Amino acid sequence: MSDNDLYRDAAEALGHAEELILACHVGPDGDALGSMLGLAIAAENAGKSVQSSFGSPFTVPFNLRFLPQTTLVPPAELSAEPELMVVLDVGAPDRLGELAAIAAKAGTVLVLDHHVTNDGFGDIAIVEPSAAATGEIVYRLLEQLGWEVTPEIATCLLTALVTDTGRFQYSNTTPETLRIAAVLMEAGGEPTVIGRHVYEEAPFGFLKAAGSALTRAVLDEERGVVHAVITQDDLDAAEIGWGDIDHLMDTLRLAMQADVAVLAKCYSDGNVKVSLRSRGATDVGSLAASFGGGGHRLAAGFTIVGDPDEVIAQVVSKVGEHR
Ligand code: AMP
Ligand code: MN
Ligand code: MN
Repeated sequence: MSDNDLYRDAAEALGHAEELILACHVGPDGDALGSMLGLAIAAENAGKSVQSSFGSPFTVPFNLRFLPQTTLVPPAELSAEPELMVVLDVGAPDRLGELAAIAAKAGTVLVLDHHVTNDGFGDIAIVEPSAAATGEIVYRLLEQLGWEVTPEIATCLLTALVTDTGRFQYSNTTPETLRIAAVLMEAGGEPTVIGRHVYEEAPFGFLKAAGSALTRAVLDEERGVVHAVITQDDLDAAEIGWGDIDHLMDTLRLAMQADVAVLAKCYSDGNVKVSLRSRGATDVGSLAASFGGGGHRLAAGFTIVGDPDEVIAQVVSKVGEHR
């Protein structure tokens, strides 16, 4: 099916539905929340009954709390069998957490995503790996629907673009990304508000927890990898939560001797969430996929149960296979 047909089908599904649920991936980032909340408000303005959510832990990251959360409800409050479920920035059903069970019962599942590792799920799937952010896809869909982009919606979608492109700096940024950003700014999106909340603020405890983790960071110069572990204990000592440490990876990956940065977050339930970033020589998307995760060529991740040091040792030993 051509892209035009897909957008037409997606617009039709959204246009006809009276009641819908929107969902993004667990541990949401700016693209997941921004594209979801932007589309949710647009659907509500179009007269729909709308709920939006994401799987547990249901905590909005500190830096994204400025986004309008009027449509957001905890997973337990969602209707069990929605007419339409829109799934955003989710590369595979397991990234929905417990909301995967609701998607399985929804009348229609519409997937809007840009992960290369997305091999297709849902009844209608717009998956565009060339889109810098899912927010780009939502913008095109709103255009197709003729739904107005209010200043509030513009700020949501601009947040999606700004965060997934690292402030229009990563190689996924295209002229089209910048054109859409310009239109969103004209529609009332506020880059200065986004920049202040997302990049210029962290709780003081972040400095302490990041300090602990970075003091233990290791550089494997031979393989070009820098890695670090952050634990629940680090967070407890600094009196912060998992949603407060989104800036840590950006500091770790500064190590110029490394092509790949690996950050292992050790949750108290035994899960280890591994984040991977590449400067370009390594395809961390395929590396993450080999551990059951996914993502993009230069930013990816996976979750595993195991000893963090052993997990990191395995990742480091496999980096060479993905160059
Ligand atoms: P993060 O390290 O959480 O910022 O994620 C970087 C990229 O990898 C994002 O595009 C995520 O959607 C993706 N990603 C992270 N963890 C996973 C996972 N367990 N499975 C699939 N994709 C993931
Ligand atoms: Mn995301
Ligand atoms: Mn994204």
